[in-house]
Amino acid sequence: MPPIVVVGASLAGLSAVDAVRSGGHDGDVVVLEAAAALPSDRPPLSKQVLAGTMEPSAAHQPLAGRLDELAVDLRLGLRVDHVDVAGLRLDLSDGSSLSASGLVVATGASPRTLPGPPLAGVHVVRTLDDSLALRRDLDAGPDRVAVIGAGFIGAEVAATCRGLGLEVTLIEAAPAPMVRVLPEAVGAFVADLHRAHGVDVRLGVGVEGLVADGDRVRGVALADGTTVDASVVVVGIGVAPDVAWLEGSGVPVGNGVTCDETCLAAPGVVAAGDVAEWFNPHFGERMRVEQWEHAIEHGAAAGRRLLAGDGPGEPFGSVPWFWSDQYDRKLQLAGRPAATDEVHVLEGSLEEQRFVAAFRRGERCTGVLGVNRPRHVVQARMRLTESLDWAPIEELLS
Ligand SMILES: Cc1cc2nc3c(=O)[nH]c(=O)nc-3n(C[C@H](O)[C@H](O)[C@H](O)COP(=O)(O)OP(=O)(O)OC[C@H]3O[C@@H](n4cnc5c(N)ncnc54)[C@H](O)[C@@H]3O)c2cc1C
Repeated sequence: MPPIVVVGASLAGLSAVDAVRSGGHDGDVVVLEAAAALPSDRPPLSKQVLAGTMEPSAAHQPLAGRLDELAVDLRLGLRVDHVDVAGLRLDLSDGSSLSASGLVVATGASPRTLPGPPLAGVHVVRTLDDSLALRRDLDAGPDRVAVIGAGFIGAEVAATCRGLGLEVTLIEAAPAPMVRVLPEAVGAFVADLHRAHGVDVRLGVGVEGLVADGDRVRGVALADGTTVDASVVVVGIGVAPDVAWLEGSGVPVGNGVTCDETCLAAPGVVAAGDVAEWFNPHFGERMRVEQWEHAIEHGAAAGRRLLAGDGPGEPFGSVPWFWSDQYDRKLQLAGRPAATDEVHVLEGSLEEQRFVAAFRRGERCTGVLGVNRPRHVVQARMRLTESLDWAPIEELLS
């Protein structure tokens, strides 16, 4: 029998392996990974590893130490270039091909970049090498670091750079930071947090392009006609799911791989993590979630779905959860609020920078954010897992 093949050896892929082993599969499992080394755990890359407070070798994934026990045939430095879903046959970057009895798509996402030729001093942060390359440029003591994009990675990088004593400008085209995951009023709190720590925050202004001196960046030209002089620029403008290799494969692709509520994308093909959009029955909507814990849980659900074979499989309903560390504040979000949801601060206050806010759409609670309030978020998440009704959440947190 051909092996189960997992493409991508990061959180979602290895979690799927764990689930198929726990589910009793004792056949071969091959994991194909384009990178030459096992991907490191990503959250420390914009935080402790970048700050120099964690050894790069300590940033390992949760399952990195269990690969032997899981009997994984891990093949590093091999990219899948194409797959034919009808025969479950994969073409690999070394010219070989491989048949699969089941396929897990866990190829994650890659950072979006700005148009133009590559310039020294311009960075993205996705891999360990990215983080170490940025760190080297920061160690050289740049006059200023410009961070383009105030999503959670841009905001974390800005905070880490300030922690290193560097001058930082944070540039965001939207009216507030983190608007893809937080309503605007709370995004405004994030902007204030950065300003209070000395960051020059520029909101509602787009980027015209990078300004170069030879092959090295020397600034960022903004749409309002100003230029931010900076010899290091970090581009944090979001990611695109890695699906190019699925073109013409028969696997449906839209905003990532399109899955049903059980993580199934095509017969014998499941997808999970940053790359996968699925119907989340708990929220009654399709979503693609780029978060650490989600990648683990989604990977496990995808692995179980593969083992269910031609059966109906279990729907994967979840309350997404993520955290972000900025300065001495830990932001923790349970749920999936939209930018336009009502914001109700139920504990503490934005001014204190220590609060719990719940997000409301009609009679539904779409999420709860805690800033230095871990217990409240854990409790709220449990309540949201039972039901998204507004009243019990208001009662719990008031
Ligand atoms: C800097 C940074 C900080 C973060 N901090 C947080 C945080 O604080 N909290 C939080 O909740 N989340 C955080 N995240 C998000 C979280 O790390 C991701 O959601 C998670 O890593 C997604 O896991 P994944 O397995 O889906 O994909 P990935 O980790 O992207 O892994 C996909 C793997 O597939 C491989 N691959 C791609 N294409 C192919 C191919 N064709 N053939 C073979 N292999 C391929 C890639 O090389 C990659 O290793 C952070 C992410 C980053 C980058």
